[in-house]
Parts: sequence; C-alpha cells; structure tokens
Amino acid sequence: MSETELLPILLVPDAHLRAKARPVGAGDTETVRALAPRMLATMYKAPGIGLAAPQIGSLLRLVVIDLQPDDKPSPFIMVNPEIVATSAELATREEGCLSLPNQYADVTRPAEVKVRWTNLEGSRQELTADGLLAACIQHEIDHLNGVLFVDHLSPLKRNMLLRRLAKELKAKARDGE
Ligand code: ZN
Repeated sequence: MSETELLPILLVPDAHLRAKARPVGAGDTETVRALAPRMLATMYKAPGIGLAAPQIGSLLRLVVIDLQPDDKPSPFIMVNPEIVATSAELATREEGCLSLPNQYADVTRPAEVKVRWTNLEGSRQELTADGLLAACIQHEIDHLNGVLFVDHLSPLKRNMLLRRLAKELKAKARDGE
C-alpha cells in the first residue's frame, strides 16, 4: 500500500464521527507512521486545512493540520494533542468540515489556545496558537471527542444545517454523482 494512497473521508452521520478516540500508545507507532502521511495527502487533495483520524475511520487520537502559509506545505502531525490552556477572549469565525461538505457556519471559540502533543519522532511539542490555527486545532481536537462544529451552534441552526446536508447528500446519491 502506497503511503500517499488517499483515504475515504467519512461523512455525517457515520458513527465514527461521534465516537471518542483513544490515546495513541507505544503499540500504535507503526500504524500512526503509516496513517499520518496518507491523512495529509487526503487532506491536501480534499482540499482542507485539518483532518482527524476518526474522519477516516481510525479511532486514534491523531490529527493533521496545515494552513499552508504562502501555499507552502508546513504540516503539523499531532499525536495525542491536548489543549492545556485557553484564553478568556473569544473569537468567531466561519468553519466548515470535510465530513459535512458544503456546510459553513460561524463558530465562537477561545481566541487563543496552548496545545501539547507528541510528534512522529516521539518528542513532546507545545505551541500557543491564535487566529485560524487556534480555531483549526480546537475543531480537530473536538473530532477526537466525537464533537462536530455544528455542536457549537444553537439547536435550531444545527438542525437546519444537518437537514440541508442530508438533503444534498441524498440528491447527490440520486443523481449518481
Ligand atoms: Zn472537521
């Protein structure tokens, strides 16, 4: 299997997207090393700026992120990422998700987060992020807990968006696209 072979991205309402992922342990090293480059390739192709393992059907605490500043790849591969501090200040920005194609909504989250993770070489990393990166990190870590960006919306808005998605996916399946 080629390491850059693309992975199918699961869509709502797949049950993997609502499951809690488990911590990556010592026995998962090879799985994670094989999975991470394929997740990155899948994310770039989509295209997206973040992808969490549950979105490709793996319930491991693994996310990949790349905002591609200046169109140059600069990926983060985060094993067992954990938010250890958040700012009191909030920020609202429009979010979307590869598992809810073509659906977007404003989401309010802490403007700044401090995140810790392990990289593929096994060393501990720490970063304080703001702006788009902070939102993206929180969105991806949410996925590891079975949480989707629509869960941050009012029930009314969430149901509207989920109904629209179901309708669009049904139409797409019917048209055989
Ligand atoms: Zn997402």
